[in-house]
Amino acid sequence: MISLTNRDRHFIDGQWARPVEGGRIEVINPATAKRFGEAPDGSVADIDAAVRAARLAFDNGPWPRMSAEDRATFLQRMADYLLARAEETTHLIIQEMGAPIAFLGRGGTAPAAMLNYYADLAVELPPAEQRQGLAAPYLVRREPVGVVAAIVPWNGPLFLLLAKCAPAMAAGCTVVAKPAPETPLDGFLLADAAEAAGLPPGVLNIVPGGREAGEALVSHPLVDKVSFTGSTAAGRKIGEICGRDLRRCGLELGGKSAAIVLDDADPQLVADFAVPLGLGFNSGQACAALTRIIVPRARQKDFVEALSAKVSELRVGDPHDPATTIGPMVAKRQQERVQSYIDGARADRFPIAAGGDRLSNLPAGWFVPPTLFYDVSNASRIAQEEIFGPVGVVIPYDGGDEEALAIANDSPYGLAGAVFSAEPARGYSIIKRLRAGTVGYNSFGIDFTAPFGGFKASGVGREMGREGLGQYHELKTVTGLGEEPD
Ligand code: NAD
Repeated sequence: MISLTNRDRHFIDGQWARPVEGGRIEVINPATAKRFGEAPDGSVADIDAAVRAARLAFDNGPWPRMSAEDRATFLQRMADYLLARAEETTHLIIQEMGAPIAFLGRGGTAPAAMLNYYADLAVELPPAEQRQGLAAPYLVRREPVGVVAAIVPWNGPLFLLLAKCAPAMAAGCTVVAKPAPETPLDGFLLADAAEAAGLPPGVLNIVPGGREAGEALVSHPLVDKVSFTGSTAAGRKIGEICGRDLRRCGLELGGKSAAIVLDDADPQLVADFAVPLGLGFNSGQACAALTRIIVPRARQKDFVEALSAKVSELRVGDPHDPATTIGPMVAKRQQERVQSYIDGARADRFPIAAGGDRLSNLPAGWFVPPTLFYDVSNASRIAQEEIFGPVGVVIPYDGGDEEALAIANDSPYGLAGAVFSAEPARGYSIIKRLRAGTVGYNSFGIDFTAPFGGFKASGVGREMGREGLGQYHELKTVTGLGEEPD
């Protein structure tokens, strides 16, 4: 019987490989601040072994040369394995990162659904497309990009890993995935699934580790494409390395998403979306969280009332308790960081609509109070910087819709947003000019069948949806052949 909480080997070349330097990661439960598991810590040597295995599997193995249908059979088997273990997985993720069960859902099915979605999509897409040229027809072939380095943060365990591994494998690539050191265990469930499905060796390699392992992976000369999700600061460094080496690169980075509230919007509707999908979204540890709520000053009181009533309903506590809506921060440093933003905004004398006071009567975990400030200037730190915790700001505007839009766009980020208005045409005219990758009208949500990614400092490229599969293709134009020979 495999222990889900104590792993001592990486998954490399279809084998369980001892870490070359014997490094270990202690996995701490953020709700109790106690150690609950252990994982191998990937070194530069482990990363090198994994990349070499992936290279060999890509250059000489069956995977890139198999039909999309045959690859789909393996991916569907992996999905079945994950589905059968969905409840254990949810339990593991709660312990690893403290996400409330009310947020994850009992037995999250999204990772398995993503494997099936990309398996089907790759089968539907013809490997070569015929087009009419200026003088003669030609073919455009979709070929796998090669060895993919998939680097993910801790805030969406397994889901973010599958958003890369599922389309990459479906496209015929081989993958080296590096889960974050805060959440190193869930990725091994994907390795278990690969083993159970009989995936050819080297197609999927899993090596958790920290920044040094990440940097070794990004700059490895045998990697063809880096797909990174994480902070904008790390994304800039990775983009520089990939630019220098002309390695393909997709970057999914930070955010500070705005809810633009027009003067005809319904305060209750705004609160119903902007709180659970803002400071309540994965306890505020979500890249797309709606953390800037931009409201007409003349109606600020109405909106703040509805929003603060909703924030007061949030329940901080044990993430296993179904009544809990806000769990702990992933790490002590994250708790301190979020608390320092709250303390800083208090020192700047921004008024507090809800929360703000340090929590008592909670277990030893890394909790912070969900807090909403209002009357906040968009130029302030708390309105400009990504906090990554349950903290939101209400920013009033005096002019009309144009001013609200200008404030929303006055941000280094452009990942997501929402526009609230009673009139769809009025809302849509703002949506069209909001510089962000995913925007909701009177609503907000993330759907993995739709492209997701950022404008500006929120990233480069898109993942999920059909576009997520395209990230892992190289296009090859073949002239002289009007159609594929049998
Ligand atoms: P982080 O950038 O510190 O780490 C993310 C991952 O990158 C980890 O696996 C880490 O070990 C690795 N890493 C860090 N520095 C690296 C480097 N120089 N080279 C290679 N690898 C490196 O981010 P974090 O604090 O773990 O995660 C939170 C951030 O992720 C937030 O900014 C959040 O907005 C962002 N995020 C973005 C999306 C998105 O889709 N846009 C989704 C989730 C999270």
